[in-house]
Amino acid sequence: MNNEIFNKIQQEKLHNHTEDVVLDKLEKLLTEKEFENICTCEQCLFDMASYALNTLPAKYITTAKGDVMTRLDEFEEQSQIDFDLKVIQAIQTISKNPSHA
Ligand SMILES: [Zn+2]
Repeated sequence: MNNEIFNKIQQEKLHNHTEDVVLDKLEKLLTEKEFENICTCEQCLFDMASYALNTLPAKYITTAKGDVMTRLDEFEEQSQIDFDLKVIQAIQTISKNPSHA
């Protein structure tokens, strides 16, 4: 067994694509007027991303170089609606109850 291969997989070649999509959606949604007054400090952004990721299925992808593949079109349409809902839910939940004062 070659441990270096596992290190490489971990560092480069195995990537949860759901993270990209969630962060992408979070960034876009937070520019909308509806969310203009909520806290977007690092802590809250981490909390929102974690919250959404914990409610969505992980989707692991591999690429030859470990490059991040794009984007939403890899998910089916229904999943995309779920993503929107979960990310909005994450924003609302965390902004109502931030983990800082
Ligand atoms: Zn905050």
